[in-house]
Amino acid sequence: MSSKKVVIIGGGLAGVSAGFHLAECDPTVFEKEAAIGGLCRSFTQDGFTFDCTGHLIHLRNPYTKELIPRILPDVFDAHERRAAIYSKSTITPYPFQANTYGLPPEVVKECVIGFVDSMQAGTNGGPKNFHDWVLRTFGTGIAKHFMLPYNEKFWKQDLRTITADWVSWSIPKPSLEEVVNGALGLTNKGMGYNPKFIYPKQGGIDCLPQALARPIRDVRTSQSVEYIDPRKKYVRMTSGVEEPYDYLISSLPLPVAFRMLKDTPDTLVDAAQKLHAISVLNINLGINRPNIHDQHWIYFPEHQYIFSRVGFPMNFSKAAGPEGTSSMYIEITHSPVEKMNVEEATEKSISDLQTCGILQHGDAVLTRHIIDLKYAYVVFDDHRQTHLQNLIDYLETRDIYAAGRYGQWDYYSMEDSILSGKKAADAVAARINIS
Ligand SMILES: Cc1cc2nc3c(=O)[nH]c(=O)nc-3n(C[C@H](O)[C@H](O)[C@H](O)COP(=O)(O)OP(=O)(O)OC[C@H]3O[C@@H](n4cnc5c(N)ncnc54)[C@H](O)[C@@H]3O)c2cc1C
Repeated sequence: MSSKKVVIIGGGLAGVSAGFHLAECDPTVFEKEAAIGGLCRSFTQDGFTFDCTGHLIHLRNPYTKELIPRILPDVFDAHERRAAIYSKSTITPYPFQANTYGLPPEVVKECVIGFVDSMQAGTNGGPKNFHDWVLRTFGTGIAKHFMLPYNEKFWKQDLRTITADWVSWSIPKPSLEEVVNGALGLTNKGMGYNPKFIYPKQGGIDCLPQALARPIRDVRTSQSVEYIDPRKKYVRMTSGVEEPYDYLISSLPLPVAFRMLKDTPDTLVDAAQKLHAISVLNINLGINRPNIHDQHWIYFPEHQYIFSRVGFPMNFSKAAGPEGTSSMYIEITHSPVEKMNVEEATEKSISDLQTCGILQHGDAVLTRHIIDLKYAYVVFDDHRQTHLQNLIDYLETRDIYAAGRYGQWDYYSMEDSILSGKKAADAVAARINIS
């Protein structure tokens, strides 16, 4: 065991992964909520298990492909994605750009012709912003009928203020053949980064943080960090508990971490506060009818529907609700400064689900569980591009290693967050070994 003290703040996936990989050093993990897990917490209510919207595991990295079945043997079922788009009163398979068959013929025509035109257009440098990238990549038809309305609804801002540096892996770009196949109703299977996923057979996604936390001896929940003193090297909790450290790993959102950091230049604190994220109001429902839908999830690009995505957990785990019922998760993105009226949003969601035929006459809501996720999706903008690395580097000069989706302020999946926690742990382990 090391004589150096490692403290980890934030007990989400990145924090517990850092603790897992440093277990021999006996780190202490502080988590402000009553349970660890962060965005990967699960909630059980009236026989239903809900995650924070859908949390499905896509493994691409050889390390996590080995690690996860090792710490959770025989826990998961594998699934082939069933995702769709609901627009113009029609359901088409995901991704929209390669599956336009079934939409009104004039829409299909605009999508195909726009795509061909975009292939012939000169490039004249890289895309200026996300809006420009959409038009260049998909053409005017796909942009008009899905990409722009969906993303404007989702990001709640002008897409010209969003950069295009995050889209290449997350949004599938079809070939001409795939666009034509999709227009004719010939199936394009397996497109995008998540055509397959795994999910626990029983219980929710919180088995993942729970398993990673198992070897960590000192995990303290209901402990909210009040401030970090990087000069005297200790963290203080709002409870009054103080803990000294030699190395600190922070998976707190960067704006939060910088607000807590004593003796820090105002310019850096300000830069961290201007990092921008979108929040998600997550409404989970239990419904008194089985097999309410056959999809895993559905995207809603049209503005008349309040939600951008609705998913059906019982289609990835039968055990997510009692027999004879269905469960749903609803995602409504909003600006973090907008206080949502939860009652109104729930009523509007239910009425929108009736309008599009997902809820039927006679369906009753058995239970509802609502979570407002303040930090949900990092916004990629010029400010992030200019300041992010400076902020992370500054922390490192103070022996603080930033980890996780909001610690690194990136579009991280669960796998990425686990790897990010490991990376921070490896950096600390290297320092301990040489100091
Ligand atoms: C809506 C949504 C859907 C998603 N779906 C998927 C999916 O299907 N598949 C996938 O792979 N990934 C998905 N993700 C991404 C995944 O949730 C994240 O990558 C991962 O959970 C982030 O873990 P983290 O530890 O970095 O952050 P978090 O989970 O946010 O952990 C940070 C922790 O810090 C704690 N904290 C904050 N302030 C303090 C304080 N003052 N003191 C102490 N503790 C504090 C928080 O309570 C939290 O527990 C989704 C994300 C969102 C938002």
